[in-house]
Amino acid sequence: MKNYLKLLILVLCISCENDKKASTNIVEVNQTTMGNHIERLASDEFLGRKPFTEGEVKTVNYLKDEFEKLGLLPGNGDSFFQDVPMVEITGTPSENMVISGKNGSFNFESLKDFVATTNKAEANISLENSELVFAGYGIVAPEYGWNDYEGINWKGKTAVVLINDPGFKSGDSTLFKGNEMTYYGRWTYKYEEAARQGADGLIIIHDTEPASYGWNVVESGWSGARLIIESDLPLLNVESWISSESAKKMFDASAMKDQDYKTIARNKRFKPILLDLNVSVDIKNKIKKDVSKNVVALIPGTESKDEYIIYSAHWDHFGIGKAIEGDSIYNGAVDNASGTAGLLVIAEAFKKSNDTKRSIVFMAVTGEEQGLLGSAYYAEYPIFIPKKTVANINIDALDSPGKMKDLTITGYGQSEMDEYAKEAAEKQNRYIIPDPEAEKGYFFRSDHFNFAKIGIPALYASGAYEGFDKSIEDIKKYNDNYRMYKYHQPSDEYNSETTDLSGIQLDLQLFFNVGLKLANEDYFPKWYDSSEFKAARK
Ligand SMILES: [Zn+2]
Repeated sequence: MKNYLKLLILVLCISCENDKKASTNIVEVNQTTMGNHIERLASDEFLGRKPFTEGEVKTVNYLKDEFEKLGLLPGNGDSFFQDVPMVEITGTPSENMVISGKNGSFNFESLKDFVATTNKAEANISLENSELVFAGYGIVAPEYGWNDYEGINWKGKTAVVLINDPGFKSGDSTLFKGNEMTYYGRWTYKYEEAARQGADGLIIIHDTEPASYGWNVVESGWSGARLIIESDLPLLNVESWISSESAKKMFDASAMKDQDYKTIARNKRFKPILLDLNVSVDIKNKIKKDVSKNVVALIPGTESKDEYIIYSAHWDHFGIGKAIEGDSIYNGAVDNASGTAGLLVIAEAFKKSNDTKRSIVFMAVTGEEQGLLGSAYYAEYPIFIPKKTVANINIDALDSPGKMKDLTITGYGQSEMDEYAKEAAEKQNRYIIPDPEAEKGYFFRSDHFNFAKIGIPALYASGAYEGFDKSIEDIKKYNDNYRMYKYHQPSDEYNSETTDLSGIQLDLQLFFNVGLKLANEDYFPKWYDSSEFKAARK
């Protein structure tokens, strides 16, 4: 009897231990370690982490060493690095862009009326009397039955298109996504699509409201040196913008004189229209090549080794630049030492948790600040088969003054990753909200976007709206203060005394929990039918 009782107690204890394990089987993402990594990466020693500088060497070696210490494996064969060859192109366009037609010709003036660049690494590039064709919004979107390029051989021609997509300010929320910008609205898409169509050049008509920035941004952003990746994708000879005044002049001289080209472009049955005009412009380029690095580390799965969850964060920032208040080192503590440190502590948490069925990849990418270059290179030359890549969780610029109730999802409504985020948020007594500024297209402005482009569902989110013990107004003040006084400035520094890491810890914990769930199931999250990335998954 006594023995029986002992045995019973023992059995009960084992089962209660198991219960305990099951309910507390949550590995904590370590806040102290995270603080230490942020402090180190954002210290002056790392020189602002700019690609091709000593700051890059220090940063990528630090990450490799830390991943190694944690017992992770090299993610790229036997290397922790993926080389990312880049080209710096400093282009100088001719003073004038010449538009000619039956009734003579006229000039647009460089910077005042037009900008022109090229991604072709050649000393001289030009458009010579290239035929101008109005191509509406320059969109081919099978899911909307939309094709602005149909019925024309584009070889030797230059397309003229509007910025944004037909939904913007249409008053029709079913036309594309209404005011919310789809990828088809971004200038990057428009250049890519025109190149796929085989066109010679593309001219985007600037318009402040649908672009969400003024001509001054085009003027400064499309002149001077630019970094691009070496790519095998088709390229245009010339990528250009013209001001809305120039566009008016162009249409007045064209076969579309007196026609309302904006309304015409919004029609679903739109077909390209020959303008009866030609364009000439040339660009002289200075070219410099260099190689930067993505850092890639791996925890192999126990069962489905060839299925991957990829965590990404960009390691790069602006290095040493123009001094502000005597400080010239752009430390980038929030942007993005926070996310880079996040990779390390999430990796640590995965090592502490039980083994996962699927493999987990940690990828610190380069060149985000120059145009998402490291992730773009990865998307073109992926190490892990995209179809077998379950999801991407991207971490960029985590910053909050404490624990947040919300999880704001940038790109809400794209994929079932929303559901994973919602479930994980509710376990933290939080709620999810869509990005309130979706019309600004932030979904296309960080590295997860390049994963989305090759069909990998991506989560990009953070607490940004309402605190557990801070009001919506206080949080707004905090965020506005960052945008005004720290964002992309030397003052984005880390202070271990004053920084409250609890909110960042909570976000990282959520990302870990989402990844952990995905890593132990067989399901592949799907894109929603309305997503412009769904087609890429097939
Ligand atoms: Zn940035």
